[in-house]
Amino acid sequence: MNDDTPAPPPQEQNTRRGITRRRLLSLSLLAGSAALGLPRPASARPEFSGWPKSYGMLVDLTLCVGCRSCEQACNEANHLPKPAKPFDDDGVFNEKRWPSAKAYTVVNRYPNPTNKEHPLFRKIQCNHCLEPACATACPIKAYTKTEQGAVIYNEDLCFGCRYCVIACPFNIPGYDYESPLEAKIVKCTFCNTRIAKNELPACAAACPSGALTFGKRTDLIKMAHKRIMENPKKYIDHVYGEREVGGTSWMYLSGVPFEQYGLPGNLPKKPLIELTEGYLSSVPVIFTTFPAIFGMLYAALHKKEKKNEHSSREVNHEQER
Ligand code: SF4
Ligand code: SF4
Ligand code: SF4
Repeated sequence: MNDDTPAPPPQEQNTRRGITRRRLLSLSLLAGSAALGLPRPASARPEFSGWPKSYGMLVDLTLCVGCRSCEQACNEANHLPKPAKPFDDDGVFNEKRWPSAKAYTVVNRYPNPTNKEHPLFRKIQCNHCLEPACATACPIKAYTKTEQGAVIYNEDLCFGCRYCVIACPFNIPGYDYESPLEAKIVKCTFCNTRIAKNELPACAAACPSGALTFGKRTDLIKMAHKRIMENPKKYIDHVYGEREVGGTSWMYLSGVPFEQYGLPGNLPKKPLIELTEGYLSSVPVIFTTFPAIFGMLYAALHKKEKKNEHSSREVNHEQER
């Protein structure tokens, strides 16, 4: 097991209706947030007209060769700790890894059902949803969806409740448990500060195979469908992320079903928050709102205690000197 990046959460049991326990919990949290009057999805606002200026990334999985240049570039651009194994060590592919505080993106290897000699590779990172469940679930609005496409977060606001982790349909937000005061959220930022300077995200700039194309999301969707139309034998007729959970900024093309790459295959086309409306009307408010309130209070108190503990340790340290 690579000690830099934790393995993905174990596959959860499907219920009889085909809804995973994780999905049910995530809908409960989103419902709780809605009941609290916390952020509504952008599309629920009458003035919402999509994100016309937003950027995206088209990941052509048929072109990814698993070189991990994107991992290395992300590591350097974000000043993350050096991994235990070098970036050219293929041994990391023996385990499934997952993004973490030390690696905002990781590349995994998957068996190829049509050609055993040529395995499949997928780079995993935040997909920067158009209507992010993480932002809706966060009780203190630590997340922001920018007009440029990135879903960013304010680590100073984060108090470690981890609702966003449960709400994310792609299991992306990671926690930095080694932070001196308290755990904080960590994930890919879509290199939003580089994009603001008209630079490519570091991973896209480093990819040597053309697997990562950065651009306006609307242009990328046209490009993706053109590729499918011109190469119907190479690609399956589906742009993953064009519509999943209301659409994502990172989208994927593939020659085999997306589940083969570990991407969830049964996601709804609507943003997750919209699915909570019926649920909200049938579940007593005590089961949705109260846990959210108690969670916020507990986390806020816990954060305060930890800060006090840290301050008194610093005072004692000063007195000893
Ligand atoms: S992939 Fe997960 S963490 Fe990223 S924006 Fe979507 S819900 Fe949030
Ligand atoms: S966009 Fe930036 S932060 Fe996100 S995976 Fe690429 S290099 Fe890392
Ligand atoms: S740099 Fe490009 S080809 Fe290499 S692993 Fe990353 S996405 Fe795949």
